[in-house]
Amino acid sequence: MAEIVLMRNFGRQDSHTLAGYRATGGYTAWEKAKGMEPAAITEEVKKSNLRGLGGAGFPTGMKWSFVPKTHTGPVYLVINADEGEPGTFKDRYLLERDPHALIEGMLITARAIRSAKGFVYIRGEYVQPWRIFSGAVKDAYDAGLLGNGFDIVVHRGAGAYICGEETGLLSSLEGKKGWPKIKPPFPAIKGAFGEPTVVNNVETIACVPPIINRGAEWFAGLGTKTQGGTRMYSVSGRVTKPGVYEDSCAVTLRQLIHDHAGGVSHTGKLKAVVPGGGSAAILTADEIDVAMDVDGLKAKGSMIGSAGVVVMDESVSIPEALLVLARFYAHESCGQCTPCRESTGWIYKMVHRIVDGHGRKDDLDTILDVAKRGGGTTICAFYDGAIGPYISYIEKFRGEFEALCRS
Ligand code: SF4
Repeated sequence: MAEIVLMRNFGRQDSHTLAGYRATGGYTAWEKAKGMEPAAITEEVKKSNLRGLGGAGFPTGMKWSFVPKTHTGPVYLVINADEGEPGTFKDRYLLERDPHALIEGMLITARAIRSAKGFVYIRGEYVQPWRIFSGAVKDAYDAGLLGNGFDIVVHRGAGAYICGEETGLLSSLEGKKGWPKIKPPFPAIKGAFGEPTVVNNVETIACVPPIINRGAEWFAGLGTKTQGGTRMYSVSGRVTKPGVYEDSCAVTLRQLIHDHAGGVSHTGKLKAVVPGGGSAAILTADEIDVAMDVDGLKAKGSMIGSAGVVVMDESVSIPEALLVLARFYAHESCGQCTPCRESTGWIYKMVHRIVDGHGRKDDLDTILDVAKRGGGTTICAFYDGAIGPYISYIEKFRGEFEALCRS
């Protein structure tokens, strides 16, 4: 098991307080970063191989370097704390148990991108994380850490999944309907309020202080060739010890299930696993010897996404599991794009009909056909995320669906 980096303070009762954070070396990375040129901070993060841990896995330092150097107006840093991916619940732990790690990471990131204002967009349902994080922001202001060239605004969302998509989040932050926008322009060029904006997830930015303190080489060495560091895996479903576990990006799915989460519960026999949140293609029991990094899961036709691992034992009905997801996508589609708006609704109705015992086997081909045609045609990645489960659940477990069909 790898060194614990992100959850290093979680065992302390006072980990959420400024005194507790300082007692474990908190804000020393910020002191160090103040003596570094912005470009040197970005270079260090690039060398660390830190990739976005919210879903897309984009190289973090590279994202920062896209902000135009010649821009004379404001540059914003926006933290995506809208954690809404099904099966994902790790950012809430960071907000509740180590909020100053995020604040310190934001201070360093803001210096790197020359930003004087940051926003933290927290999903509306996260009441306790919002309370604790807001308290930490107040303490940071009282201590003079904030308000001296960098300010943080804490903003609560209203519970829409699509506001976790970065341009949807920015629309919502601007007070508009949380609709995603066509890219380009990317937010680093034209983001919040029309200004260059870096959008990063909570866990990603919490990695920045340890990188500055201990160096890019050390961080890169904790992970794989193309993704440095450790990350937090939310493991739920049919396991003996569901929870959040930190390990290297090189850990395998088998190790996560058996070594961390205590193995498969209920029947004890593994049937399938969702490796990276609801939008990741499902893996079968014989596909779990895979490294949990961007490239490892891509090679298996799935994705690491938000690292939300949902384990299903032999007794779980795959059609019923797909029904839950199909209902979610139909409900959460923002409705701007016809393929997404129409397909998610109709696919939900068809999966519902199959699970109810009134479906036909050729419904399955219709679902696959509709799902495959819509891929890559929409404004945002929501629909591409939805078709991963539609296709993989049916293609890998077609017999289970057919057994429920009446003709
Ligand atoms: Fe909205 Fe779906 Fe289009 Fe994304 S893909 S903009 S969620 S309709």
